[in-house]
Amino acid sequence: MATKLLLTFAICRLIVTVGLTLDPTELLLLGVDAQLSVDPTDVKAASLDFGLLIGAQPPLAVMHPASSQDVAQLVKAAYGSNFGFTVSARGHGHSINGQAQTANGVVVQMSGSKGGSGMASGRKPPHPRVWPQERFVDVWGGELWIDVLRSTLQHGLAPKSWTDYLYLSVGGTLSNAGISGQAFNHGPQISNVHELDVVTGKGELLTCSEEQNSEMFHAVLGGLGQFGIITRARISLEPAPQRVRWIRVLYSNFSIFTSDQEYLISLHEQPASQKFDYVEGFVIVDEGLINNWRSSFFSPHNPVKISSLDPNGGVLYCLEIAKNYHESTASTVDQEVESLLKKLNFIPASVFTTDLPYVDFLDRVHKAELKLRSKGLWEVPHPWLNLFVPKSKIADFDKGVFKGILGNKTSGPILIYPMNKNKWDHRSSAVTPDEDVFYLVALLRSALDNGEETHSLEYLTNQNRQILRFCDEAGITVKQYLPHYTTHQEWVDHFGNKWDRFYRLKMEFDPRHILASGQQIFTPTN
Ligand code: FAD
Repeated sequence: MATKLLLTFAICRLIVTVGLTLDPTELLLLGVDAQLSVDPTDVKAASLDFGLLIGAQPPLAVMHPASSQDVAQLVKAAYGSNFGFTVSARGHGHSINGQAQTANGVVVQMSGSKGGSGMASGRKPPHPRVWPQERFVDVWGGELWIDVLRSTLQHGLAPKSWTDYLYLSVGGTLSNAGISGQAFNHGPQISNVHELDVVTGKGELLTCSEEQNSEMFHAVLGGLGQFGIITRARISLEPAPQRVRWIRVLYSNFSIFTSDQEYLISLHEQPASQKFDYVEGFVIVDEGLINNWRSSFFSPHNPVKISSLDPNGGVLYCLEIAKNYHESTASTVDQEVESLLKKLNFIPASVFTTDLPYVDFLDRVHKAELKLRSKGLWEVPHPWLNLFVPKSKIADFDKGVFKGILGNKTSGPILIYPMNKNKWDHRSSAVTPDEDVFYLVALLRSALDNGEETHSLEYLTNQNRQILRFCDEAGITVKQYLPHYTTHQEWVDHFGNKWDRFYRLKMEFDPRHILASGQQIFTPTN
């Protein structure tokens, strides 16, 4: 009864907000009323994201789907209705610019539906299903990667390609790319998917893969949620390592640092024993080594005096590498690591090594999250900027940004690591620079309201603009990762020669522009 009342309220809001006539029975006829909620807690949660950069965008209602059919019924109703309300899938809401939000429609809360308040019916999305022989797992689109890992480990298997942080949804990262230090070797997460179930903007449920509906398959991967809602993904697995040797070494010379990174990723075709499994790095502009929230790796057991490594007080660069192994091969890991390290040219006194279980390595950022949460420093605005920078221009970027614009304050970690373009399928919707090797530069900054100008949201946002302007003026043709633009022309420029196909497929699969309107690529047609 309460659910019905709430639903009627949601429908009335839809009518009032849109200002058009809607037969109130239209939504009631969806047959998914047990999953639609206007509970203020649900609405509030769906109105915000990790960025906290834009004001709250309360949706008209939140749906907690239990199946692909629930999602399909909702989207079909939106597509067929007189006014075409919008529908946005929301994974874990870890976007920063409202990409998973919609003010004039329904948010489909894909993650967390297993215990959500809309689960009055007791129906829940399916659990991961592992296929040990075939080495893949079928997962619900809202499944968090941490839960995918837990399920596959029960079979001694694990996905191959990761993000640094595992509390992100499968549908959310596959809509972007999903990258971490394994991408040089296995490609991004979108290169490790066999098959998808997708609900299109017309409410059709399609299965797609390399062989079946292949145009849809490639479009959805990296497609920013524009063509359909991923309800199932079939993800490739490998035998799970048990432990990880995790190493950090420092450089004061940028070109030596990047030469070593590029050398390490060039080994991707070598046998496993002759390459690292993970290659990343970060920039230390200030005392960021100590303030680096992503890890307490260097302290307290390995205190390091930055001034002793770089007496000029300049920028330092940290190469971060890891080797996975099974306990049965532990005896050879030292030798393998040693012979790889010998080929590198880091500052000799700067090797920091630790050894930990594979899960702890993959879940490392969550530890930092818990620490920040306990200090009230997690739920703050995050004006993050993620850029793909072509290899040929990375030295210019270093000079202009790390050694220039940033000054000596960073307000958060700055990641830098290269990837091989040939590990990215050019048919996907993801956009990367036009060179064989390109770098991710991720400025992962938190804004604080502590009276210090350099920590303020305004300061950091202006600095991001300055960085983009600098790249433009210096001819550094960067591509934004997790892109955010507000004008049509910027989106056309972002997609470059992929735009025509992107546009054509949008018209085919979501002609009323119902889906993921929070990306601000297309305007919904009423
Ligand atoms: P949401 O923010 O909920 O959604 C993102 C977009 O995808 C929205 O447009 C939404 O409508 C759409 N979407 C969501 N679910 C679906 C679905 N099932 N089907 C279709 N479209 C859908 N990224 C990396 O690549 N590597 C990293 O190492 C990394 N680390 C991060 C660490 C932190 C702490 C944070 C906050 C983010 C990180 N990210 C990283 C970025 C992250 O991958 C993206 O923000 C991603 O979109 C988040 O997933 P989500 O489930 O929260 O998606």
